[in-house]
Amino acid sequence: MPYSEQTVRSVRPWSNRTFSFTLSRPQDFAFENGEFVTLGLKREGKLVARAYSIVSTPDRDYLEFLSIHMPDGPLTSQLVRIRPGDSVWVNSKATGSLTLNHVLPGRTLYMLASGTGLAPFMSLIRDPELYARYEHVVLVHSVRTAAELAYRDEIEALADAKLHYVPTVTREPFPTPQRGSDLFRSGELSQRLGLPAPDPAQDRVMVCGNPDMTRELTRHLKDAGWTPTNHRGIGNFTTELAFVVHHE
Ligand SMILES: Cc1cc2nc3c(=O)[nH]c(=O)nc-3n(C[C@H](O)[C@H](O)[C@H](O)COP(=O)(O)OP(=O)(O)OC[C@H]3O[C@@H](n4cnc5c(N)ncnc54)[C@H](O)[C@@H]3O)c2cc1C
Repeated sequence: MPYSEQTVRSVRPWSNRTFSFTLSRPQDFAFENGEFVTLGLKREGKLVARAYSIVSTPDRDYLEFLSIHMPDGPLTSQLVRIRPGDSVWVNSKATGSLTLNHVLPGRTLYMLASGTGLAPFMSLIRDPELYARYEHVVLVHSVRTAAELAYRDEIEALADAKLHYVPTVTREPFPTPQRGSDLFRSGELSQRLGLPAPDPAQDRVMVCGNPDMTRELTRHLKDAGWTPTNHRGIGNFTTELAFVVHHE
């Protein structure tokens, strides 16, 4: 049985569409910053499980996650109700394409996230190793409403001369209303931060967003001469879908 029963330690709502929660950590559960694991709830003996990026870092004795709430979603319509002491089932194996081993070291690392796609970057920005590999790290988080800017205070506290945090809000008034992918593609992002224009020879990009945004950026990067990391080797950009769209 690859799933083990874990206990909810805490739940933290951000907005009516998003919340975070922490769980006890399965024994011997190993993972790298940026990876995801499958977790779920049992209903009438049947497990409903989905992929979740891990927000917390491997040095903690708990696992933290950032979740969407889809009112019709088989898992999250139930998961939104968990309380401390409840059970959540966690797979024993973590995996993913957003670890530090999926991009080469370089000058500036751009992390482009939309919605819950922020999750894998939270563990990465807490890792000192990240700052040893890059001169600058730019984390862009695009959401619909300001309340969905999860972990904003924590990221702002971490931001310094090396870590640049650019929150953007697209559906209510906010100082930066553009989508992060548009800011990157137009060159406005680097310009605004006083950084050189993104260059595939020196800079790296990680994307974790909704399927449209991820597809769009992948096309843009390839057209501009960037190489994705895949089975052929490590490139200068790597992507992961923050979720998959299920069609009825
Ligand atoms: C590699 C990977 C990592 C993931 N990491 C996370 C994570 O860290 N946090 C998280 O909340 N979800 C994450 N997801 C999505 C997650 O697996 C589920 O889809 C989500 O929990 C909803 O489950 P559900 O059963 O309620 O609805 P589902 O039946 O899974 O989804 C129903 C619909 O909801 C929409 N949707 C699903 N997930 C999201 C989302 N995160 N943001 C916006 N719309 C969404 C889609 O349109 C989808 O068709 C990840 C998915 C993948 C493939």
